[in-house]
Amino acid sequence: MTADPRFTAWCPACDWNLAPSWETVTASRRERAAIERTDRLFAELAEGRSGATGRRDWLLASSIAALVHLSTTALFCWGLWLLVTGNTPLRCIGAAALGAVVLLRPRLGRLPRDRGVLARAQAPALYGLADRVAAEVGAAPVDVIRSSAAFNASFGLVGLRRRSVLTLGLPLWEVLDEQQRIALLGHEFGHRVNGDHRRSLLLGSALNTLATWYELARPSRFRRPGSPLFILIGEVIARALMTGVAWLLYRVLLLLDRLTSRAGQQAEYRADALAARTGGTEAARGMLATLLLGDSAGIAVGRFRAEGGRRPVRTRAARASAAAPAPDVLWERLREHLASVPATEHERLRRCSAWARAAVDATHPPTHLRLALVEAAPAREAAVNTDAAEAAAIAAELAPHRARIAAELLNG
Ligand SMILES: [Zn+2]
Repeated sequence: MTADPRFTAWCPACDWNLAPSWETVTASRRERAAIERTDRLFAELAEGRSGATGRRDWLLASSIAALVHLSTTALFCWGLWLLVTGNTPLRCIGAAALGAVVLLRPRLGRLPRDRGVLARAQAPALYGLADRVAAEVGAAPVDVIRSSAAFNASFGLVGLRRRSVLTLGLPLWEVLDEQQRIALLGHEFGHRVNGDHRRSLLLGSALNTLATWYELARPSRFRRPGSPLFILIGEVIARALMTGVAWLLYRVLLLLDRLTSRAGQQAEYRADALAARTGGTEAARGMLATLLLGDSAGIAVGRFRAEGGRRPVRTRAARASAAAPAPDVLWERLREHLASVPATEHERLRRCSAWARAAVDATHPPTHLRLALVEAAPAREAAVNTDAAEAAAIAAELAPHRARIAAELLNG
């Protein structure tokens, strides 16, 4: 039995009380199949087999994506034709079709212009480190780095020119050590070179369009009381039709997910291998283990906020830092809290990740498998290193963002 009163008491020998707040959920047949596929891919990769890339799945997924874009184009042409050649009612239908095309158009995203953006000229040290990591993994230098209040990081391409945007969640960045930050950058830039088709222009935008179709087709719960019978009958028929269409769209979305999830997971493991190459195996392991601490970080921030953003005064040193403004103390408290998480809690979270694998978001394989694969690979030294001066310069560049996000977290 574990003893730290701040964390769930559980038994490492028999998993008693591993996740007391969870109900026992039985996975559906589809979820079980997804878990099996996830485990099979992991086993293949852990044994050092490269795993078949599934070219046929990718071709099929691309064809579906092309069909989705073709149907949007056809709808556009049809709407335009009605608008130009039709009488008044047909023109209305044409206008409605064009309206739908606006909703369904591929969303390419645009460069962020919010307060989180760090301009290259204002953050030369951070961009310098990012460029070294990007060069090591074979990715082009990043166009924009921005900060966020999330306990994660992400990488994406936006606009027709496919400019790259790296988003660094400061709650995560601040609790990682220097090498772990390099490993995190290695993973994120790995997304540029790991061949994840789900993020490609063709497939990614088709998935968005399909999801919008699905939202449009899902019958709403709206029903007017006291409508005449013929309207009610019409509504029932329309509802049945829309339910059928929505069901079909949902199946297509599931099929696309199935066709691409294996390649997507492989790409994530590849990004983790690049994290180990740039930051070193130990740092990549530490970075992934920290990802499991998202809930603990949220609880620590909530506790600090409840205390009114002040440090309980115990020692003389603590009294000195109690005078420091709350934002700085928040990051310090967060680091202290996560560093004090005992090994048994780390192990509990790792096992929880194994249990919850059906529920994890489909963009990444479960963290415990990512950890296991990084640990199974031969240990590597870091290819990218940093020094105290560079780390201090980066910290100074991030200072205004740290203050702003801490204020957001403390007031929000
Ligand atoms: Zn990733």
